[in-house]
Amino acid sequence: MKAAILRGPRDLRVEVSRAPEPGAGEALVRVAVAGLCGTDYSIFSGGRPVTYPRVMGHEFVGRVETVGTGVTTPRVGDRVAIEPNYSCGVCPLCREGNSNLCMSRTAVGIDVDGCFAELVRVPARCCWPAPAGVPDDELMVTEPLAVVVRAVGRGQVRAGETTAVVGVGTLGLLALQVLRARGARVLAVGRSTRRFALAKELGAEVTHTVSAGPLDEAARRFSGREGIDCVVETAGTPEAVNHALALVRPGGRVVLTGLPDEPSSVPFFSVVRREVTIVGSMIYRDEFAEAMRLVAAGHVRTRPLITHRFGLDEIGRAFAVHREPASIKVAVVP
Ligand SMILES: [Zn+2]
Ligand SMILES: [Zn+2]
Repeated sequence: MKAAILRGPRDLRVEVSRAPEPGAGEALVRVAVAGLCGTDYSIFSGGRPVTYPRVMGHEFVGRVETVGTGVTTPRVGDRVAIEPNYSCGVCPLCREGNSNLCMSRTAVGIDVDGCFAELVRVPARCCWPAPAGVPDDELMVTEPLAVVVRAVGRGQVRAGETTAVVGVGTLGLLALQVLRARGARVLAVGRSTRRFALAKELGAEVTHTVSAGPLDEAARRFSGREGIDCVVETAGTPEAVNHALALVRPGGRVVLTGLPDEPSSVPFFSVVRREVTIVGSMIYRDEFAEAMRLVAAGHVRTRPLITHRFGLDEIGRAFAVHREPASIKVAVVP
């Protein structure tokens, strides 16, 4: 099979290698379409070290080619979306139901080989049956969508509440749609106006550029009160944390789902004084089925997010385009 093999930082080569054999409890999946994200880029560039050689990629849809012994579901030929993180299942965190926090968690495309290849071997339990009639492209972003479904759940957002999404990348554009599906009003906050038209098309009621004026004023204007009920931060920068805190009302909630590399300096005085609840949200736990349901029901539109598409042979170009401001989600078709 063909696979894009990372031999070291920025040393990515498309090579022909032997197809992996599914072991007991595993499935071999033929990749239909794969998404590229910031995590892949940080592995590619060496910012996030992995053991080499490594096949990156963790957002994908495909068809089950073969299964190993003991596997009853999925079956050969099934179309599946892959949940690319699996926990050990036996540690105290796993047994308490905190599988997303398992310290022995395995991430496909990071700890083991991923989907920038024609075939991938994954545990059968990571395969979610694709809803009939929903095209592969629309299910390709199920993984990042599950991330924001969890974030919105962590924020305990209720219908009629005011919410803000900080960051209008893939996660932000998905989060605002999940918030709309929950019946909330959404203010989208970004550093540039570039994706605001799309944010509005997908359900943001108002957009605001960080440079356009103080965020607390924008939050009061939007909410008609002291600020926003719940803010979902998706940008993953140190500034975004403070932007979220500027938007939230006293007694409100801030959900952090981006992963800033650098520390943020947070004015905790205002957190205490205003009784702001700050919660982290880490990947997903039971949110995959709900993410697919939202796509199948048409509550979340994912296709407008896919701005580019490349064959596996052009994967170097796919990584370059990922960094261009015009791209949102880059797809790789092996
Ligand atoms: Zn990703
Ligand atoms: Zn565990």
